[in-house]
Amino acid sequence: MPHHPEARSTLPPVRIRSIVAAPLFGESPKGGWSAEIQPEDSIHALIAVHTDAGITGYGSVFTDGRLVQAALQVLEPLFRGENALQPERVTEKLHQNTFWMGRGGTLTHTISGIDIALWDILGKVTGLSVGTLLGGRYIDKVRPYCSLLMEMPERMHDVVAPYKARGFKAFKIGWGPFGRRNDPGLDRAIIAATREALGADMQLFVDPGASDAHWPQGLKWALRTAEMLADYQVGWFEEALKPDAIDDFCTLRRASPVPIAGGEVLTRRQSFQPWLARGAFDIVQPDVTKVGGISEQRRIVWMAQDFGVRYVGHGWNTALGVAADLQMATAFPGVDLVEFIGGSPYVDGILREPFALDADGLLDIPDRPGLGVELDPEGVARYTPDARPLFAG
Ligand SMILES: [Mg+2]
Repeated sequence: MPHHPEARSTLPPVRIRSIVAAPLFGESPKGGWSAEIQPEDSIHALIAVHTDAGITGYGSVFTDGRLVQAALQVLEPLFRGENALQPERVTEKLHQNTFWMGRGGTLTHTISGIDIALWDILGKVTGLSVGTLLGGRYIDKVRPYCSLLMEMPERMHDVVAPYKARGFKAFKIGWGPFGRRNDPGLDRAIIAATREALGADMQLFVDPGASDAHWPQGLKWALRTAEMLADYQVGWFEEALKPDAIDDFCTLRRASPVPIAGGEVLTRRQSFQPWLARGAFDIVQPDVTKVGGISEQRRIVWMAQDFGVRYVGHGWNTALGVAADLQMATAFPGVDLVEFIGGSPYVDGILREPFALDADGLLDIPDRPGLGVELDPEGVARYTPDARPLFAG
């Protein structure tokens, strides 16, 4: 007989009965990609883990929901009947047994959503927030920075104005024409117009989005552009180079007057190790809905801490991704920002109590069981063909 870890547990096991995914369609926010996302494309999905105790946990995945549904079929024999109260052991089982079948891709993305949902269940069963379960809460509030796409300079005032009016105090602008027109004057004008629209007190970050297809620039552009960004008090320069150019990232980080950020496209803890060990980043931005979930991201963040690298979460894809990022923001020392996409119905339109900024532009980090948020079934139903399986616990 194999050893059963829960045999002497004080918490009776809660068995996984089924896991379902709902692809989100119809309002997918633009990504600034050269092959732009269309509203009807699926790039985000919600996951529900149903248990025999009648408790359901929820998670989020940043990839095509139809891929997530296919991955769940592959993973089903591995998770069915597992104890949902052991997130790290169960998801490590899924990682280890799918080594040969697309690790780092769709399967890892899907395991991310499962892992987030299992932590949600463990919190709901124990009455503890995920942040508490991860070891303790360092903060009760965190600053969301509003992510917006770049447009031509004369448009940037109107791009940021509605979100400034909503109370955001930190902004990131990215993608769009920046770096894509071989026009350093245009790049500077976009940043200058945005800084003027925001005023001197707001934080501003810049993300050219070099993980886009066929990014045209290289190290020399990134070095020159970093100098320009320093003129406008830009807080970091993100994805300034193609996502596999580790040597150039190391060179850029050493030379740049502004901090260098990246890592959103990396998956699995093992992938982050060389980037952190070699000093490629000042700031690492793992995406909890892609890297393998909370269990995986927690190890990445602690590794970053030990290398002296700042962590800022990239789990903005849905309200559940943001909820997971909030719990992770409180679980490590020194986290002061979380990404928040401006104007996505998948974030603003699917919770019973949508996220709301306080007067200082901060978000509360819920200290309620699990992720501490509740999906609104009617809101979710607007963006997926059939939401019922998510709620049919
Ligand atoms: Mg980015």
